[in-house]
Amino acid sequence: MSILKDNIPIDCLLFPNSHYISTAPFIFHAFGILKLTQYEACFPDLFRSFAIQEKINLKKQTVIMMHEHPFAQFHFCPKCGSPRFVEHNEKSKQCEDCGFVYYFNPSAATVAVILNERQELLVCRRGKEPAKGTLDLPGGFSDCFESSEEGVAREVKEETGLEVTRTEFLFSLPNTYLYSGFLVHTVDCFFRCTVADSSLAHAMDDAAELLWIPVKELRPEDFGLASVRKGIEKLLAQWP
Ligand SMILES: [Zn+2]
Repeated sequence: MSILKDNIPIDCLLFPNSHYISTAPFIFHAFGILKLTQYEACFPDLFRSFAIQEKINLKKQTVIMMHEHPFAQFHFCPKCGSPRFVEHNEKSKQCEDCGFVYYFNPSAATVAVILNERQELLVCRRGKEPAKGTLDLPGGFSDCFESSEEGVAREVKEETGLEVTRTEFLFSLPNTYLYSGFLVHTVDCFFRCTVADSSLAHAMDDAAELLWIPVKELRPEDFGLASVRKGIEKLLAQWP
């Protein structure tokens, strides 16, 4: 059962009868909320290694607020392999043996806003987890050594076959993305993209289906990823 979706910007499912904490089916991550089964699979040390910092009551559900270090899953120094790889500050860990310091920063990602001549927005249905089956916009992680403009054009080409001829930066939003059991933090850069011929769009790669939706008929709640949902809200608010 999906709940709290209106005010919690990440997919969250009710997981009753938790054997961890029977009265608290949800875990707030510092930047979102995850169901306990995900934490059970991804963060087995969670309840041992993180302090419960705050309990809040949200819509009659007791929620335990926790803050984990972004490198909680990183136990060994990536340079020398030492297990003495400890918290350096809230964003980094340092090796007590070789001195190596590694900082945790968000990954760059892009989102494409493509409109056709009928003022319909190009929307794709996600073919993969997370949020498989929900609506999304073309885009993805930036590659090393490419600009965000190049990255958004590449992703649009990969997912829709369309050639981007012009990009215009709109805004950026932070996001989290659970991939391979690790919560990846991103900064999603939204670009208005002009394409050579919008009629040639066809679903490829991560996109299961493409849809052209009139802007005024867009519903943010249909979009599964938090930053894209917020981005749709911003676009609607700015729409003439
Ligand atoms: Zn080391």
